[in-house]
Amino acid sequence: MQERIRYQMGKTLISRIDELQLMSFSPSKLFPALAAEVEDERIFPRDLLSEDGNIILSCHSWLLQDGTRTILVDTGAGAGKSRPFAPYFENLSPPFLENLADHGVKPEDVDLVLLTHLHVDHVGWNTRRDGDEFVPTFPNAKYVFCADEYAFFSNPENLIDRHRTSFMAREDSVDPVVRFGQALMIEANGAEVLSGIRFIPTPGHSPFHTSIALATDDGEALFAGDTLHHQSQVVYPDVNSVFDADPERARASRKLVLERAARPGTIMFGAHLAGTSAIQVSKGELGYRWLAAPRHGSTDP
Ligand SMILES: [Zn+2]
Repeated sequence: MQERIRYQMGKTLISRIDELQLMSFSPSKLFPALAAEVEDERIFPRDLLSEDGNIILSCHSWLLQDGTRTILVDTGAGAGKSRPFAPYFENLSPPFLENLADHGVKPEDVDLVLLTHLHVDHVGWNTRRDGDEFVPTFPNAKYVFCADEYAFFSNPENLIDRHRTSFMAREDSVDPVVRFGQALMIEANGAEVLSGIRFIPTPGHSPFHTSIALATDDGEALFAGDTLHHQSQVVYPDVNSVFDADPERARASRKLVLERAARPGTIMFGAHLAGTSAIQVSKGELGYRWLAAPRHGSTDP
């Protein structure tokens, strides 16, 4: 069974639903600009690295339960999908739905699926294989995502090598929810699109990447998606990962999201951060500082 990583914010219980971990990138391969800091344990704490000293990239969803709504933020890499250009995600069968069931949630219970962006490792469980086709995994859910990102990955003019896996993911993991009438494509402009939920434009990692903010009685739950991949980027907000498509916009978006995360009461939830994947951010001398956020039902962070 997965380790229970849960946070209580106001009425909302926020639980990490694990899918898989990638551990094949060394710190200097993922963050070439930090090659000189690799041995600095303040920047790369040992407990956030694999035994081989590699970055641990967690793939997971966040499950939000407020007594009324059952929400998933991002849906991992998914199962049974052909990914010839992204071998880490080729034809997987991770126990994601079993992990969701551990939290008492069946696919039909999910009301909303919120997507930070449409990359392969964020849309996978949107759909499941049914014979020769892919159908929505969550039959009663609305899937909410940025209309511009969908248009970008649907326009043949953008089909370059860098985006070819995103085009495949769009075809088998996003198009079906559109065909089934379950897509709610929105303009991401920071306005409230559903009760308490805002999509904040944070482009750069992907063309129209968004961060998702949920207002709670205890402060904001801020789902930062892939604006950062590791806690070192809190300390050094200028440092991009090799996955960031537009370096300048990725830096600007990271600073914007960290500034927002530094507001009192906010917890930032990462899409790939190692450890417990949720942090509290404050202003530091260089960029920002981070602490693991205190977990629900536990005194240790
Ligand atoms: Zn990602």
